[in-house]
Amino acid sequence: MRILVTGGAGYIGSVTTEMLLDAGHEVTVFDNFERGHRSAIDVRANVEEGDLRNRTRIAEAMAVIKPDAVMHFAAYALVGESMEVPETYFQNNLVGGLNLVDAMLVSGCKKIVFSSTCATYGQPDRVPITEEEMQKPENPYGESKLALEKALRWYEELRGIKAVFLRYFNACGATAKFGEDHDPETHLIPIILQVALGKREEVQIFGDDYETPDGTCLRDYIHIVDLSRAHILALTGDHSGPFNLGNGTGYSVKDVIETARRVTGHPIPARVAARRPGDPARLIASAQKAHDVLGWRPGLDDLESIIKSAWDWHQEHPEGYGD
Ligand code: UDP
Repeated sequence: MRILVTGGAGYIGSVTTEMLLDAGHEVTVFDNFERGHRSAIDVRANVEEGDLRNRTRIAEAMAVIKPDAVMHFAAYALVGESMEVPETYFQNNLVGGLNLVDAMLVSGCKKIVFSSTCATYGQPDRVPITEEEMQKPENPYGESKLALEKALRWYEELRGIKAVFLRYFNACGATAKFGEDHDPETHLIPIILQVALGKREEVQIFGDDYETPDGTCLRDYIHIVDLSRAHILALTGDHSGPFNLGNGTGYSVKDVIETARRVTGHPIPARVAARRPGDPARLIASAQKAHDVLGWRPGLDDLESIIKSAWDWHQEHPEGYGD
């Protein structure tokens, strides 16, 4: 298939592009390179530089590429930042997303796989979280993703666009070529690995007084290769609607630090700090629907292998991509 990948220079987009190409698809990456990296794009992909907030630009690119399907990763994705500049999040994630779908309508493209998030659930009433859980986001990031999900449901019902929403839990890990490089880095695993590389003194544990077994937050860490495989499964067939993507196991912040100590052989000093606003105590997926409907089975689901793959990439790329 001919696939347009928005945000293909970002973390999850870069790995999915690599895997789409490996599976024999033709890929064009559309990216504004504001937060992504040129060297994160597989050399086999075509590249169109542009910003989704520019309606004309995405319409032009869509008319030239004429994709069979779109995978939509391009977005701002930092919860804390979204609380500071909500309008920026709604402009990029919602308005940019609507410009993309409008361009699809004009060009006749009828399938989109959209990167959504467990942040659309907010503080869940039950864990593990199923797709039936109420969606009540607690920050503009989650709200902007939910707003595009809701619009896409109507585009499906009234305009015939098949829309799959993949609600990611905590994406992590790397392939041999592509890994995680954000500036500034806010995610737990890359921060820990920066300590192991001697680039930071210590890791801060954001709160140890949560109602969890060791007092630190539980998250469901899912390997980027498993996430990408789910996108490729979602592409084929007649799928639409939401799918949670996680392993179904919650690891605490302390578990992650302890595992990273074993993997890296570094002591990784850690200090307990204040809670980070907006952090739910437990976010753990039920991915039963993705198993049953997409036939998706995560294969790299133990924390040690996940951290090992990230550690290998960070050792190879101590300065990240450098662009
Ligand atoms: N966390 C932490 N110290 C850090 C970064 C993150 O204790 O320097 C915690 C954070 O509070 C959350 C977990 O690690 O409980 C995962 O955070 P991350 O930002 O990686 O992902 P999120 O769950 O926010 O999407």
